[in-house]
Amino acid sequence: MHRVKVAALARVMPLSADEAQHLRVLRLRPGAVLRVFDGQGAEADATLLRLGEGGALLELGEAVENDRETPQPITLAIALLKGDKLSDVVRAATELGVTTFQLLQTRHADASEIGEQKLLRLRRIAAEASKQSRRAVTPEVRPPLPLPQLGLAGQGFLAHPGSAARLTDTLDWTAPVTLVSGPEGGFSEAEVAALTGAGFTAVTLGPRILRAETAPLALLGAVAASGV
Ligand code: SAM
Repeated sequence: MHRVKVAALARVMPLSADEAQHLRVLRLRPGAVLRVFDGQGAEADATLLRLGEGGALLELGEAVENDRETPQPITLAIALLKGDKLSDVVRAATELGVTTFQLLQTRHADASEIGEQKLLRLRRIAAEASKQSRRAVTPEVRPPLPLPQLGLAGQGFLAHPGSAARLTDTLDWTAPVTLVSGPEGGFSEAEVAALTGAGFTAVTLGPRILRAETAPLALLGAVAASGV
């Protein structure tokens, strides 16, 4: 069933000209049943009332339970990476269940800032990937924060080579989870000390050194493989 993101679930919901164009390409006609979601977790059936050049109207149907979210929200705090690497991470990590991306400025980060256009592009990628993976939640992508300002609410894990602890041994789902992944140059010792001092547990991803864009997916892969 075709899924459409709407601003909010309401008795009658307008769609943008772009979304309407997509429905025309699919040759949908009034009376067709679609699935709508609001990006915040609500999902429902909806019937196409009208479809024209300038937009479309949908009528709200039965609410649908979407059980594709992890038991607690996952924040992925990730160091800024060079080029377009963050796009690939955001796409795959959205499929793997991340609720919030927190970009991080770190001592050895490959970049110290991200342009407004790039940030908007990451948000579009998260929206598209959440739709494709049939989630009802569209992850938020937050602008960069200096690493010392990263707070911890719930459980926090920091991927750091040579650590003894393993994510899957320590993770439980009683509280929100924050996963932290470093830049190609790694975290400085002071950053590791600050994060562990703030309550983050340093975890290993095995004896091999993973690229900065692979490590967050390995963390999330462990979560996905546990079946939640
Ligand atoms: N020379 C850097 C160091 O020793 O930290 C290597 C950094 S690695 C290319 C980039 C990031 O991926 C690291 O900061 C860490 O967050 C994560 N990472 C890569 N391999 C890892 C491993 N085997 N265990 C835990 N974290 C790893």
